[in-house]
This record gives sequence, C-alpha cells and structure tokens, in this order.
Amino acid sequence: HRLVTPDTRDEDYEIEQTLRPQKIEDYVGQQKVKENLKIFIQAAKERGEALDHALFYGPPGLGKTTLAHIIAREMNVNIKTTSGPVVEHAGELSGILTNLSEHDVLFIDEIHRLNRVVEEILYPAMEDFQLDLIVGQGPNARSIKLNTPKFTLVGATTRVGLLTSPLRDRFGIIHRLEFYTPEELQHIVMRSAKILKIQIDSDGAYEIARRSRGTPRIANRLLRRIRDYAQVKANNVITLEVAKIGLIMLEVDEQGLDFMDRNLLLTIIEKFDGGPVGLDTLAAAISEEKDTIEDVYEPFLIQCGYLERTPRGRKATRLAYEHFGKSRQHGERI
Ligand code: ADP
Repeated sequence: HRLVTPDTRDEDYEIEQTLRPQKIEDYVGQQKVKENLKIFIQAAKERGEALDHALFYGPPGLGKTTLAHIIAREMNVNIKTTSGPVVEHAGELSGILTNLSEHDVLFIDEIHRLNRVVEEILYPAMEDFQLDLIVGQGPNARSIKLNTPKFTLVGATTRVGLLTSPLRDRFGIIHRLEFYTPEELQHIVMRSAKILKIQIDSDGAYEIARRSRGTPRIANRLLRRIRDYAQVKANNVITLEVAKIGLIMLEVDEQGLDFMDRNLLLTIIEKFDGGPVGLDTLAAAISEEKDTIEDVYEPFLIQCGYLERTPRGRKATRLAYEHFGKSRQHGERI
C-alpha cells in the first residue's frame, strides 16, 4: 500500500480524530478561509441563523473534514456526516435532513459523487429548507412539500469541476484549500507529536514537514512511521538524523516524492519520451486508476513543477528530468 497516499486508511481513522484540531484557532494555515469563516460564523450567531452553506475543495488530506467539524463546534450545533457515494436514494437524504436539529451541520464528503436524483432533493432543501416529495404511484401520485430544519450543508470535494452548476451555485461560501508550507506543516507535526507524546526536535519536525507533499494527513502519517523507527533504533527521539534515515526507509525522497510519484514521472520520461501522454494510456501503463492519478498524484506534481497538463496529455517538465538526473533529449542519464 502506498505510504504517501493522502486517502484515509482504517488504521488512521482513530488517530486522525485525536489529531483533528477542534477550534478554529488550532487550525493551522489557510488564513483566508479562517478569516472569512470567523466573520461569517460570528455574523450568523449574532443573527441567530444557521451558517450559509459552505463548499471546500482541494486534494485529499488538506483539512476539509476538519473544517466541517470546526464549524459545527464554533456554531454550537451537532454535525451529521455522510458522503456522496453512500447516499443512494432520495429517501435516505430526506430522512437525514428531516432528522437534523435547527442549525445543524450536514457534512457531505465527496459531494461530486452524489447521484442526480439525490442531488435534486438538495436544491429546494438548500434554498428554502423544503423537500419536494412524490407520494403514491401512478394516477394517485401527488407531490407534497415538507419543511426541514434550517441547516448548514458543508460539502467537500477533490474535484470541484465535476460539480453541477446548480449545486455549486447554492453554496454561499466556497473555498479552495491550498497545500501547506513546510513551516505550517512543521507546526502541525510538533502539535501532533505533543498529543501523541512523541519526542521530536524542531529540525526533525521540519524535515518531515518539508517532505509531506504539502499535506497534513501525510505529515501526521510520516510522523507516526518515523516514531516507530526512533523507538526501535534511536532512543525514542526524532532528530534531523533520525528523520532522514526514517524517510529513506520509507522511500520518500528529498523532495517528498514517494515510489508512485517517481514511477509516474519515470514512466512518462522513459516510456513516452517525456510526453505528452494521454491519461488513459498513462493509467494503464502504471496500473493506477485515472481518478487517483488526477486527484492524488497530479495536483502536487503540477504544483511543484514536475508535471504539465496539456491539451494533448501529460508532460514531464525539465525539472522532472533534472530530478532524476536525466537529459531531456533521449531520457538518458547525464
Ligand atoms: P480532508 O477532509 O481534506 O481529506 P481532513 O480534514 O480529514 O482532510 O484532515 C486530515 C488530517 O490532517 C486531520 O486528521 C488533521 O489531523 C490534519 N489536519 C488537516 N488540516 C489541518 C490543519 N489546518 N491544522 C492541523 N491539522 C490539520
């Protein structure tokens, strides 16, 4: 299994709950999002209203779910969480909505994966807190309107482009989450180490931080793996030296690229002469899902300037060639 994948894995689940900041003050980075949310939350509370519906998008592991929980806590309301592929029928969503309390948060992860019928239930619910239900069948069918409590929908997606515009337009608050700086991730690593009672010095934390693909979930995961190494081999303290050796063992390279990142780039360089190569072809060549390539690998590789998305496909950049010590002409080593 890929170590650096930003997806949640079961073993992570409980620890993620422990490490999740509860208050907006403890949420590191994402200044713009925080500043806006603070104002909207205060205003909604002063008016005694539910917070406007909010949509957060960006690669996995950047803190979208965490924000949904923080919003509920700051608004002093309950949160109910579900995800796009889980809600299969309109009835399920109606059930969830009618069971909410006033001003509650409904969090829908992977909201771009809601099916059309379910999504259409959401429109009047988001707009007027109403459900349009069809009861009965055939000639006896009639439509009834039901009120839902006033609630806040918080949606999260890795692929905002896949959201339909009627859905997107019904969110009053839309924010893209950015990759974190090494300094912000260092802060998160130190905080997590404290909670998990792991001894780490600031250089060790920085080394993990700068090789975590800008992603808090990955930083926390690397911290725990390297803790194991420190415990067995290094007196339980994560120093710069220990972090470096641990990262080598985990096959995370100097720039934070892991085995699959390197595989993807090297495949483009060696098998496709640097590209452009179409997504389908690339996915087949590295035996990986297209969605995973687009959601998980590419955003970071593009951000770092290793990969380029062109109309004719993916291309490895000069920086990618340099990273592997290869010359651009024939993909040979220099
Ligand atoms: P997403 O929903 O975007 O996939 P999560 O909200 O589940 O990401 O975040 C993954 C983990 O990373 C959380 O458990 C939390 O511990 C940590 N995390 C995310 N964002 C932050 C942040 N801004 N400050 C501190 N920790 C964070």
